[in-house]
Amino acid sequence: MKEPLQDIRRALLEADVSLPVVRKLVGSIAEKAVGTGVIRGVRPDQQLVKVVYDELISLMGGQAAHIEFSGTPPTVILMAGLQGVGKTTACGKLALYMKKKGKSCMLVATDIYRPAAIEQLITLGKQVEVPVFEAGTELSPVEIAKRGLKEAKEKGTDVLIVDTAGRLQVDATMMDELKQMKKVLNPNEVLLVVDAMTGQEAAALVSAFNLEVGITGAIMTKVDGDSRGGAALSVQEVSGKPIKFVGEGEGMNALELFYPDRMASRILG
Ligand code: GDP
Repeated sequence: MKEPLQDIRRALLEADVSLPVVRKLVGSIAEKAVGTGVIRGVRPDQQLVKVVYDELISLMGGQAAHIEFSGTPPTVILMAGLQGVGKTTACGKLALYMKKKGKSCMLVATDIYRPAAIEQLITLGKQVEVPVFEAGTELSPVEIAKRGLKEAKEKGTDVLIVDTAGRLQVDATMMDELKQMKKVLNPNEVLLVVDAMTGQEAAALVSAFNLEVGITGAIMTKVDGDSRGGAALSVQEVSGKPIKFVGEGEGMNALELFYPDRMASRILG
């Protein structure tokens, strides 16, 4: 039993699952594998793979998780994440996803520190034919968010997606801004955008955002890249919140619901 468990441990670490998560997983897999007994005609190593696969799926929430829609529109989605992870792109993708579901949608640009980010959101909004609320770079992000919400209420918009400023690293000003926005918007969802390539650092990152701001779920981007996706396990394990969507490319159509079974297969390679 010891040797196959070592192999599993190695495979998980190679897939960038963080060490504490690997330890916990290997422990519970060892327990379950002992309890499973021998099934006639099935090789023990195949049984073990099944135990690992099932454990990974259950760790990632079992089933696909959906967006929590508000009873009274707009449903507000606050997007958080570091710079460069694909947050603004994800805003555009999510807007298109909502449109396809028959929901009217509005995007809000609050990254006053990077005029290029505002321009980028406006361009994406045009591309997916969703209005973008922006107020330049003079007002505070919180004030812009407040005005965006007011406009969405007046227009009877179903879903309001608020893009926020990211930083290269976790930083107190960014967290404070997010906290204030959360207070003002009372969002239905706070989605943390995580780059699948983040690897081992994902656990600390998710933990920081979840403790400081409180997230309801995550979007994992750049799943079309080379990473084996171990960061996906860390998200759920560290925050207890599900990944709701995955980004699989730069195009606006490249957003899918997150299916734990698909990610489990990928992590096992
Ligand atoms: P932000 O700073 O977090 O808002 O990041 P952006 O949305 O500007 O994205 C940064 C870069 O990543 C851009 O070049 C995007 O086209 C690219 N990108 C975003 N999502 C994905 C994805 O799912 N797959 C790939 N391959 N590239 C992506």
